[in-house]
Amino acid sequence: QRKALISNEVLGEEPLDLGARDLFTKAVWFEVENRSLTGAGLIEAQFPGALHAAEHAAIGLLPLVASSDRWDIGGVSTALHADTGVPTIFVYDGHAGGAGFAERGFEKAKAWLTATRDAIEACECESGCPSCVQSPKCGNKNNPLDKDAAVTLIDVLLKDARDSAAPEDSRAGAPAPNAV
Ligand SMILES: [Zn+2]
Ligand SMILES: [Zn+2]
Repeated sequence: QRKALISNEVLGEEPLDLGARDLFTKAVWFEVENRSLTGAGLIEAQFPGALHAAEHAAIGLLPLVASSDRWDIGGVSTALHADTGVPTIFVYDGHAGGAGFAERGFEKAKAWLTATRDAIEACECESGCPSCVQSPKCGNKNNPLDKDAAVTLIDVLLKDARDSAAPEDSRAGAPAPNAV
């Protein structure tokens, strides 16, 4: 995709003659079981849009817990990842070797996901906008995105974390986000 520098407007699309490039970096990821999502009322056709929308929103909200900018961070989400075997959202540092943002997201995962969930739900748009689940740097033209299903998905992630965490687990005991 060719985009205008200032407006980000898509000018056209053409095949790119460029070899694959590797980025060795650090990531934080969230796994969820299919049956947890279907148990929450989602159907499998909604999984990709829910994961993708949650990924975008999480990247947008990461600056709440890490001093990152959206452009420092990349994301990948898939309804079946070969390494995890389940629906998974990855958020990674866009700088080789990692820049500490993903690690910070891991440490503050509960506050981060809670803020992400609340931001999506609070957005008054109908089905997703740049303030919630759309991303200006999406490589998939912001498709698919399922705003409502993303809230359900994050609810499942937060509930699974609560159910599996011992009270003394510091990761799950992260303080609730301050009201902003
Ligand atoms: Zn919105
Ligand atoms: Zn995207």
